Amino acid sequence: MPELPEVETIRRGLEQKVRGEKIKRVIIRNERSVKTPPSSEFVQKIQGKVLCQIHRRGKYLILGLDSGESLVLHLGMTGRLIYSKTREEIGYSRVVFLLENNAQLSFADVRGFGGLWFVPDEKFEEAVPALANMGPEPLGRSFTLEKFKQLLKGKKGKIKSLLMDQTFIAGIGNIYAQEALFLSGIHPTRSPSLLLDQEIERLYHNLLNVLKEAVSYRGSSVNTYVDLDGIEGNYEPRLRVYRRAGSNCLRCRQVIERMEVGGRGTYFCPRCQK
Ligand SMILES: [Zn+2]
Repeated sequence: MPELPEVETIRRGLEQKVRGEKIKRVIIRNERSVKTPPSSEFVQKIQGKVLCQIHRRGKYLILGLDSGESLVLHLGMTGRLIYSKTREEIGYSRVVFLLENNAQLSFADVRGFGGLWFVPDEKFEEAVPALANMGPEPLGRSFTLEKFKQLLKGKKGKIKSLLMDQTFIAGIGNIYAQEALFLSGIHPTRSPSLLLDQEIERLYHNLLNVLKEAVSYRGSSVNTYVDLDGIEGNYEPRLRVYRRAGSNCLRCRQVIERMEVGGRGTYFCPRCQK
């Protein structure tokens, strides 16, 4: 699933390519991808509007329209947003936005867990429940070490599952939670409330650094993720633990192992991560 760095890469691409462009026509190929309102109304509301600022909140994209309305988009597990200068058929496309400059923006989604919401005002938090309950942005200014410490206080369960919980922190998923824990020497199943101060500090800095680094490399294409131009991200070769079971730890040469945490495949070094 695209996580913060991948969605941020797409957001930056949209800012460059479609900001200021008018949506001439909307073609819906699969109504299930339109969450609200009903698809005929969705089309009617969006056609003729100009795309303005593009924001990201967690793994969601929020495309502002010149009318003050917004279009919210989530890529789900396999969603792709592809920009092309000509009208071409994109595989598994579900919703296509034809722009006035003859370019098109296609929302393609093989497995169909992604979706689009038209929000008639700026109250997208009310319209999309996941946004209302979302935790802080890890790269936001208000996400300080103190804030992170406060959030962790009294939290039960496993640290890896907590990092992936969107109501705890926004935008982190299976890849970057594992990378940050590896870099911090913390075992994925540790109890959040029992982490030592110095471990919390390490985790905080590694989390931010790994997300920033991945953004600078335009994300990881471990599954189906590609950017707006259909090009894969460059961060995958730099992943330090994710999907490296059987390979040697880059730090201590111990063999990396795999286990399930909260039903998700999780990679860790049994020597470095305690
Ligand atoms: Zn190791």
